[in-house]
Amino acid sequence: MYTLLRDLRRLRRQLALPPADRPASLAIRHVDAGSCNGCEHELTMTAGPHYDMQRYGLGIVASPRHADVLLVTGTVTTRMLEPLLVAYHAMPEPRTVAALGNCALGRDVLGSEQEFAGAVTEILPVDLMIPGCPPSPEDIARALRTLIDRGPPRGPDTGE
Ligand code: SF4
Repeated sequence: MYTLLRDLRRLRRQLALPPADRPASLAIRHVDAGSCNGCEHELTMTAGPHYDMQRYGLGIVASPRHADVLLVTGTVTTRMLEPLLVAYHAMPEPRTVAALGNCALGRDVLGSEQEFAGAVTEILPVDLMIPGCPPSPEDIARALRTLIDRGPPRGPDTGE
């Protein structure tokens, strides 16, 4: 068995394949926590045939239970706080959170304060920030692609 694994590693190196512990694809669950839909428009373009983010191994999935990445747009409204937390806790570990757009990052947010629960960065452990109002499809695809390049996300919090 050991010899087989060693030969497999050698073959991966010869073929210049990425290390086995680097994910080849990521499943993304998108949650609109209170955006104006501008970020969604650009995200839809990113997933469309022109930018085709699936060719980079990035796919949108319908359920957080199947997702590696929680991609959040908009500042979090009080009504969306609970659904956002439910989606986050439904994801399997290890999980990654990405905040897409200036609203998610808590920048330049318009509206009445009592309806905002806060920026995504104040509510969840954000691993990837994608600034812009809205960010372009190129910026979104490039930023999400870095999640694959960085390797596996961190494991569950152990409190250490
Ligand atoms: S960052 Fe800009 S485009 Fe995105 S939700 Fe906020 S206002 Fe809309």
